[in-house]
Amino acid sequence: TELYEKGLEKTNKGFGARLNAFFAQFRSVDEDFFDDLEELLIESDVGFETAETLTEELRNEAKLQKAKSRDDLKRVIVQKLVELYDENGDEEDEKLRYSADEKPNIYLFVGVNGAGKTTTIGKLAKRYNDQGKKVILAAADTFRAGAVEQLCEWGKRVGVTVVTGPEKADPASVVFDATQKAIEEKADYLLVDTAGRLQNKKNLMNELEKIERTIQKLAPNQPTETLLVLDGSTGQNALMQAKDFDKTTKLSGLVLTKLDGSSKGGVVLAIRNEMKLPVKLVGLGEKPEDLADFSAADYAIGLFH
Ligand code: GDP
Repeated sequence: TELYEKGLEKTNKGFGARLNAFFAQFRSVDEDFFDDLEELLIESDVGFETAETLTEELRNEAKLQKAKSRDDLKRVIVQKLVELYDENGDEEDEKLRYSADEKPNIYLFVGVNGAGKTTTIGKLAKRYNDQGKKVILAAADTFRAGAVEQLCEWGKRVGVTVVTGPEKADPASVVFDATQKAIEEKADYLLVDTAGRLQNKKNLMNELEKIERTIQKLAPNQPTETLLVLDGSTGQNALMQAKDFDKTTKLSGLVLTKLDGSSKGGVVLAIRNEMKLPVKLVGLGEKPEDLADFSAADYAIGLFH
């Protein structure tokens, strides 16, 4: 919760800050209040439909609960935000698949360049390493030399092994080596960084399919996740990217980064509503510890701090 509060309050243009500023001007529960709230939700990229539904439900709920004060209304909003999120999926989905017996647990990170894949992998590696788990990273973004270097830097910083291949190597061959190594060394986690070229969808799709087949062959019983990393600060753009990727590859969940200081953080709700894909992790800053499991309740409460 603290991380959310810190992350979401970071700048005064954040979604949370806007909500707070809105509430600071609160006078009474009337039609203007709900109209202005709806406008604010739309501007924060909650999505038009979601904003409309949410406002309507808030209006009804506020009446039902006889909400009059500022705090009454905040409470109703938090409650509705959580309900809206939960309605669209079940809680079990929200957790990363994990098995202590069928190791390694393999998480594949996909998404366009700059979304925050490498950073998220680095943060997660630190989290697991701090828990005393064995982590191996696979640098399967062989297309960009910088990407491999960046992952190696995280590896060094956190103190975990990074499996790399020669420049322009077949990403699937790097994944093959890394999976083998992770099995041999009984690693708890294998985190795979992939290339984020959307310009050539067919190539990207083939590449991801080949990586998934490789993992399937070597580790058929291990839990796997294909996580799409999205830059949350791009708002509705992130939603469009999610739709695009969902067409080319089977996703199991989302990671939303850069929610700190983003005025468009409302997109979390839009994505959940439209994609029915769970947000599994959120990035709340650039530091290694600025990563949290997604919690609709913490998110909603964090918005008001
Ligand atoms: P990749 O190309 O998808 O691997 O993206 P990177 O991991 O290289 O991230 C791109 C930039 O976004 C870097 O400058 C990161 O420090 C920054 N970044 C990643 N996650 C977050 C986050 O949660 N908050 C903030 N503020 N910056 C982030």
